[in-house]
Amino acid sequence: MLKIDKSQLQLMIDHALERYPYECCGIIAGEGAFARQIIPVRSDIVSSSKYSMNNNELKNVLYKLDEVSLDMIAVYHSHPIAHAYPSDADIAKAVFREIDYIIISLLDRQAPVVKCFKIIDGNVTAVELVVHS
Ligand SMILES: [Zn+2]
Repeated sequence: MLKIDKSQLQLMIDHALERYPYECCGIIAGEGAFARQIIPVRSDIVSSSKYSMNNNELKNVLYKLDEVSLDMIAVYHSHPIAHAYPSDADIAKAVFREIDYIIISLLDRQAPVVKCFKIIDGNVTAVELVVHS
């Protein structure tokens, strides 16, 4: 389960809409199941079907989180033209077993769909995303 508040959810959706028609990516910092910060990370790839988080930027973010005792609890990215389900590439490169993967689908930009998954050894399972105010 991942607990996120409405404004955090909106920040991710806004990031996805801002980058449309390209994918956006970023991380969620938090404690346990609780999201505390949404942190956009630059993608090295400009594409509607792929993303690649900039490694240096990610390292800096993780370093700063360590200083404030927050963990990376999820990675998020958008699917501008696909459903909110991990692509084969997403599954292949999901190296973090302990975190959640969030996908924001903009197939219908008026009604973005946000879903959360665990991806372990190529197996995708749905994770409950609890949105609170
Ligand atoms: Zn994807």
